[in-house]
Amino acid sequence: MADVLTQAQRRLNMSRVRGKNTWPELILRKGLHARGLRFRIHRKDIPGRPDLAFISARAVVFVHGCFWHGHRCPLFKVPETRTEFWMNKILANMHRDEIVARQLQAEGWRSLVVWECALRGRGRLPLQTVLDLTETFVRGDQLTARIAGDFSPRDTSSP
Ligand SMILES: [Zn+2]
Repeated sequence: MADVLTQAQRRLNMSRVRGKNTWPELILRKGLHARGLRFRIHRKDIPGRPDLAFISARAVVFVHGCFWHGHRCPLFKVPETRTEFWMNKILANMHRDEIVARQLQAEGWRSLVVWECALRGRGRLPLQTVLDLTETFVRGDQLTARIAGDFSPRDTSSP
């Protein structure tokens, strides 16, 4: 019974973290829409089914959860239980991300990854900054870019 509950809880957590329409994704969508940018979401006919696709700009945006996509940042922590199980999953996700990146490039899509840590946690950037950077990417011609949280020390005078 305990194990059943644990599995149900895990599924819930997974749907919340990995699923579509996560909080960071929604806040980004809302902000970009308010700026007049128009996009499609979760298009199945584009490699990796990107969270946002700006068709005429030939640009896609992924909002990646730092845990699920193995970001080297303070939001990622190796799980203390079932470590191998989780690490295998995360490594598989990272491998898939690499394949998707190559497919997108081959099909002429420009791609931006917005890491979760840019939008939440102590390293988060001001939302307007994330929106500025995203809008600049969409309207520009850069092929790939990523936006991540800023974890550099804020106060260099402290010991
Ligand atoms: Zn991160």
